[in-house]
Amino acid sequence: MIQATLDVATIRKDFPILQREVNGKPLVYLDNAATSQTPRQVIDVIVDYYQNYNANIHRGVHALSQEATDAYEAARKKIQEHFNIAKSHEVIFTSGTTHSINLVANGFSSFLKKGDEVLVSAMEHHSNIVPWQMLCERTGGTLKVIPMNQEGELIMEEYHKLLTERTKLVFCNHISNALGTINPIEEIIEAAHKVGAAVLIDGAQAAPHIRADLQALDVDFYTISAHKVCGPTGVGMLYGKEEWLKKLPPYQGGGEMIAEVTFEKTTYADLPHKFEAGTPNICGGIAFGAALDYMNGIGFDEIAHYEEELLHYATEKLLVIEGLRIYGTAAKKTSVISFNIEGIHPYDIGTILDKLGIAVRTGHHCAQPIMDFYQIPGTVRASFSFYNTKEEVDSLVEGVKRAKNMLV
Ligand SMILES: *Cc1c(COP(=O)(O)O)cnc(C)c1O
Repeated sequence: MIQATLDVATIRKDFPILQREVNGKPLVYLDNAATSQTPRQVIDVIVDYYQNYNANIHRGVHALSQEATDAYEAARKKIQEHFNIAKSHEVIFTSGTTHSINLVANGFSSFLKKGDEVLVSAMEHHSNIVPWQMLCERTGGTLKVIPMNQEGELIMEEYHKLLTERTKLVFCNHISNALGTINPIEEIIEAAHKVGAAVLIDGAQAAPHIRADLQALDVDFYTISAHKVCGPTGVGMLYGKEEWLKKLPPYQGGGEMIAEVTFEKTTYADLPHKFEAGTPNICGGIAFGAALDYMNGIGFDEIAHYEEELLHYATEKLLVIEGLRIYGTAAKKTSVISFNIEGIHPYDIGTILDKLGIAVRTGHHCAQPIMDFYQIPGTVRASFSFYNTKEEVDSLVEGVKRAKNMLV
């Protein structure tokens, strides 16, 4: 299918921050895998909330509380529709992916026994490794790793060999934040279900690029953070199948999550409130919904098509630089390029790029096991969004060449 390419010049006008300068140079923001920028349409929703109907939700009878509750619940419905989720109470608002994963890992303490196994992929973000290690320590379960190859793709034959009736849980990111690899999650989910294991997919890095259909995937849990899809920080989603969310114990106790409290016993509220103790990030939840509206307004097919163009353009231009190696060359990947130049520390390249107004990430990208795999301290990572341009890619390439000349 041939797509009309995006009107990026017009889109960029939606993002006030893209007009600013850094170190006297126009900002070139290429750290989208860490967090995305926020369009005026979402900023307006945040301002409107605090100016006009800031109130606590689900409790007051007064008008403001009702308006805030309606807007918050409308946002939950938007998220439900966006991911084709069967029931709105399967959408749990959290503070983000990390919180979502910890909620599930904590809940599984009740189900996991000594000898049970948890599989995680070799290319996980720390937030998708540490909670499972903690879970295994608490329960006597064993953590096993699905290995990857030099291209940065999971070795699926090994995955299938690791699956046994001892496997209770499989965790994998949909897209790797460090390498950009799009993992074959359909195959991962289907095979895990055949041995009776549950699957959690970390969708934090996929959500900005792919609109996942969670019913079609038949996944048990899926997590995202609003700040990677043009929304604010401090809010995200845990999707869980109703049957699982009913079985899992609550993560935190407090207000909002109870049905009845006496000093002898508390009964928990129905879903989703059972997992939403305390006053949530109300404004953030509403803005999260607005952010999905904004991205859908541009269109995920158009976004994917345009970002692929940027990825190919940037890959070709960067590879011309002698001594530059790209980590993560999977056949299926998104617009993330992790690279190093022989003999130069990634941090030094990042520092010079910053002087030129170019924002990239340097370091291990919260994925130290991947760096160990390649035996490197870290990489420079440029990650592109639909609001980036080919001219910005050119600036990056010029900047990297300059850094190389200065450093070798
Ligand atoms: C960003 C990211 C996370 C962590 O998200 P938080 O918003 O920091 O909780 C987890 N996994 C992946 C793949 C990510 O890209």
